[in-house]
Amino acid sequence: MSYKIAVLKGDGIGPDVVDCTIGILNKVAAENGTVFEYNEGLIGGIAIDETGVPLPVDTIEICKKSDAVLLGAVGGAVGGSKWDNPDGNLRPEAGLLGIRKELGLFANLRPAVIYPALKEASPLKPEIVGDGIDILVVRELTGGIYFGEKFSGDDYAYDQMKYSVEEVRRIARVAFDAAMKRNKKVTSVEKANVLEVSRLWRKVVLEIAKEYPEVELVHMYVDNAAMQLIKDPHQFDVIVTGNMFGDILSDEAAMITGSIGMLASASLSEGTMGLYEPVHGSAPDIAGKDIANPIATILSSAMMLRYSLEMPEAADSIETAVNRVLGEGYRTADIAKDGDSIVGTVKMGEKIMKYL
Ligand code: NAD
Repeated sequence: MSYKIAVLKGDGIGPDVVDCTIGILNKVAAENGTVFEYNEGLIGGIAIDETGVPLPVDTIEICKKSDAVLLGAVGGAVGGSKWDNPDGNLRPEAGLLGIRKELGLFANLRPAVIYPALKEASPLKPEIVGDGIDILVVRELTGGIYFGEKFSGDDYAYDQMKYSVEEVRRIARVAFDAAMKRNKKVTSVEKANVLEVSRLWRKVVLEIAKEYPEVELVHMYVDNAAMQLIKDPHQFDVIVTGNMFGDILSDEAAMITGSIGMLASASLSEGTMGLYEPVHGSAPDIAGKDIANPIATILSSAMMLRYSLEMPEAADSIETAVNRVLGEGYRTADIAKDGDSIVGTVKMGEKIMKYL
């Protein structure tokens, strides 16, 4: 089998963490008799430096011809970067928004995982964390209130929150499909006691649920979901929700893990195409110093194997290897405490590779 992977390293620590991840993918390929063909494209600040725009046409073409996209991060130092520009279309972040739009990425998947070895990093009480937490937030990314009609007048302003049946159907299917690969429970989060759009959302999710009789479906209002995530996170497996509620809940779920360098994400379009990237930014303060935590990107590549490349066992093996390396006390500086063995980016990659 052979797959084409577009590689967009971007800025700051992007190249550090992506290079490390490619080492892991090469070993996965060798062990599975698979060929990964990598094609690099420019995005973000480096693309501005070399071509004048944050998302060159070449990059879009490389991505569209690929089976999946692996992305590092874009952007310069906050509040003082050579790429700061009053024209928003010429800033590094515009590259990211542009590629999401070009690829029609409508589903954002963000796992919030607390590994047993990193339990102390969670701001939650140990008795609530228990042996670890594993939640997947599936957020609709291209509809809802962020993309509805807008109006701003002298006396009032509004943003319209709108979802079509088809938009809800396709995000619900992503969530149920993901639940089938996990613990077979979906919590659909909305505000159906107040919002018409949420009542439609609930009706459509119920209809899709009939296609997945093995999956348990729970409906929850968003205000309650925000509380339950803190009070009893173990009740969740997959959370599916709209754009704005998902924006807020995915950050809340991420924070209960306590480690930005560990958070992976996937954005999916129709079919199997997906873009995989760490949640963290380009961290210019530590770029090129071999100290960045590569695990968020490595775990993003595991999601790529699971959701775009039909290699779920290889995805499991990466996640298990990460768990074992953490269990042995190896840490990059951002997640280290007294007594841990601190390793750099490259060394962390090598340790994980050893356990694949
Ligand atoms: P950031 O995530 O880059 O960094 C926040 C803090 O976390 C920094 O102290 C950084 O050193 C640390 N950190 C982040 N990732 C780490 C890792 N893998 N290992 C160890 N430490 C890590 O956020 P920021 O400082 O607000 O933003 C920096 C730049 O990144 C900005 O230009 C911002 O626009 C951009 N950004 C890009 C993305 C993206 O590409 N998806 C996301 C967020 C921010």
